[in-house]
Order: sequence, then structure tokens, then C-alpha cells
Amino acid sequence: MRMVMIAAPGAGKGTQASRIATHFGIPHIATGSLLRSHVERDTRLGRTVRGYMDRGTLVPDRIVLRMVRRALTEAKAAGVGYVLDGYPRTPAQAGSVYQVAAELEMTADVALHLEIDDEEAVRRMLSRSAAEHRTDDTESVIRRRLALYHEVTRPVLDWYAERRILLCVDGMAPVDAVTARVLELLEVVEATPPVDRAPKIPLPALV
Ligand code: ADP
Repeated sequence: MRMVMIAAPGAGKGTQASRIATHFGIPHIATGSLLRSHVERDTRLGRTVRGYMDRGTLVPDRIVLRMVRRALTEAKAAGVGYVLDGYPRTPAQAGSVYQVAAELEMTADVALHLEIDDEEAVRRMLSRSAAEHRTDDTESVIRRRLALYHEVTRPVLDWYAERRILLCVDGMAPVDAVTARVLELLEVVEATPPVDRAPKIPLPALV
């Protein structure tokens, strides 16, 4: 199973991605968590990215893409698939990850989209902030992340739809119900020969 997850902040991407990874025995590559770990360890990279994250803006792509490239290369070496959570977040990133994955013969079989409305996303992130103390889970930063999602991330869905690998699931349902639905759909994908689900189409102009 090789998949990318596209969803608004607060949609439950991280939770579902981790369950999917466990179910299929594949690595969960979460760009936000990788970046946060650098911030927490106060590495040089962490000091570079902290401001972007605290403001709810995107970290420069050369930094994130390097992490993604390394993680995909490790998955390839281990002979496994992956769940990529948090990347791509822009049409340009969709192009970059496609190229990196194509070089490794590891392009995604599935792009999973969890649909959720903005008010529910805000509600969930505010309740999470009490438990997790994420510095980017304040209401103004949450609103900025959501706006950025609508402006630059959502358009990526059209491209995956064109590639015929987009799956959409209702993210408003209770978390276990979402997992059940997602795994049901992914089992169908697993059972389908790759040639049927990932037709080779040229990469459209994305930026
Ligand atoms: P959420 O989906 O709730 O916004 P993430 O943990 O996925 O949370 O991301 C947190 C932050 O990490 C983002 O607001 C951004 O600053 C940074 N980040 C994560 N992924 C990327 C990416 N692909 N490109 C640029 N910045 C990213």
C-alpha cells in the first residue's frame, strides 16, 4: 500500500494515517511530526522551521521535500509501501513527490481525502490543544492553517481525481467509524491490480 493523505488540519489525518500504517505494516511518514521533533530537540533545522510552524505557514519546501525523499528511499530499501501524511500540501509539492516517487518506482496507489467542515476542524483542534500543547493550535493560527488549506492544498485533489486514485471519506463520523470505512476501501484497492488503479498519465502543469 502506497498512499498520500490530503485533509484539512483537524480532519483526523494523523490518527487515521497511523492506524492505516499499523494495519498494513508500513511506515507512517508525517511531515508535521518530523518537523515538530526537530523543534522539540532544538536542532538547527528545528530552529529554522519553528517560526513558520508557529505562524501556521508552510515550511520552505526544500526542507520538507528532503525529509520526504529520505523517508521514501528508506521505505523502498525496506521493500514496503508508505502512508504519507502532510505532504503534498501544494500543487508544486504534488509534482515534486510524484517525481521523487517515480524515480523510486514508488508512486502512490491511493490519495485519501478526509472531508470535514471548518467549524468541526476548529473545534477539534482547540480541544486537542489543551491535551497536546501544540503551539500552532491557537484559534488565530488554526484559522490561518485552514485558509491556507483551502487556498493551496485543496486544489491538489483535482489532480489525484484525474489520476483516478482519489478516495474520499466522510471525516465527520466518529473516529472508529472513519477507520472502518477507510480500511474497507483500502482492502478493495489492495485487491485490485495496480495497472487498473494507477493509469500512467502525464503530469499536468500544476503551478
Ligand atoms: P496540520 O495538518 O494539523 O496542520 P501537521 O502536523 O501536518 O498539522 O503540520 C504542522 C505544520 O508543519 C504546518 O502548519 C507547516 O508549518 C508544517 N508542514 C507540515 N507539512 C508541510 C509541508 N508539506 N510543507 C510545508 N510545511 C509543512
